[in-house]
Amino acid sequence: PPLHRQRHQFVIDFVKRNKSKKVVDLGCGECSLLRKLKFHREVELLVGVDIDGAKVKKRMHDLVPISTDYLQPTYDQLCIELYQGSVTQSDSRLRGFDLVTSIELIEHLTLPDVEYFSEVVFGYMTPVAVIVSTPNSEFNPLLPGLKGFRHTDHKFEWTRAEFQSWALKVSLKYGYEVEFTGVGEAPTGHDERVGFCSQIGVFHRLMGRDGCNILFAGDAIDVFSYTLLYSI
Ligand code: SAM
Repeated sequence: PPLHRQRHQFVIDFVKRNKSKKVVDLGCGECSLLRKLKFHREVELLVGVDIDGAKVKKRMHDLVPISTDYLQPTYDQLCIELYQGSVTQSDSRLRGFDLVTSIELIEHLTLPDVEYFSEVVFGYMTPVAVIVSTPNSEFNPLLPGLKGFRHTDHKFEWTRAEFQSWALKVSLKYGYEVEFTGVGEAPTGHDERVGFCSQIGVFHRLMGRDGCNILFAGDAIDVFSYTLLYSI
C-alpha cells in the first residue's frame, strides 16, 4: 500500500491494541486519518487540529454518521471535533487524551516552532501516548529524481540520529519513554541500512512523578486558542 496509508494503518493498529478512547490528530489536513478512525469502536472522542482551516473544511462533512454507523452499538458514544489552530499554541480542550498523533507534521515547522510543539504536546497536553512520524532523510537517495527535500514546504528532514536526539531530549524533559520504528522499507536490492522511508517515534508517558505533572500552576485557567470548526 502507499506510504500515507501505511502511516495511517500504523496509528489504527496502535489504537486497536491500546484501546485508545480519546485521540487527537495534529495537522489533520483533510481529515483522512479521522475518517478511518471513526470506524474503530474503542474511540469515543476524535479531535482534529490544523492551521489550515480551509483544508479541514474541504471534506469535514464526510465525517457525519452514515446510517450503517448506527448499527454499531457504541457508535452513539462517538464525538468528533475539528479545530483550526496551531500546534505551537496550547488549548485546554486538548488535555487529558489517550493518544496524540502527529503524522508528517513537524517537518513543516521551523526549529523554534518544533520547540513550542514539544512544550505544547508533551508539557501541556500530557497525553498517555504520542505518535510522531517524519521523513527519514537517509532514505532520500532511494527516491528517484529527488533533489533537496521531499516537499517544498519542509523546513528540515532529519536523519535517524537527529530525530532520535530530539525525541530522547523531549522524553527526558517531560517524562516519557520512546521507541523508534517506521514504515516503508527499502526495496529489495537496495541497502536496507538506510532505515524506513518514514521514521516513527512512539512515546509513552511515564507514571509517578511525571504522570502527575497534569497539575501545575495555572492549570485551573482554561485556554481557548483554537477555533472550533465542526462538532458532531
Ligand atoms: N497528517 C496528515 C496526513 O498524514 O495525511 C497531513 C500531513 S500534511 C503533510 C501537514 C499538515 O500540517 C498540513 O495539513 C498543514 O496545514 C498542517 N500544519 C502545518 N503547520 C501547522 C501548525 N503550526 N499547526 C497545525 N497544523 C499545521
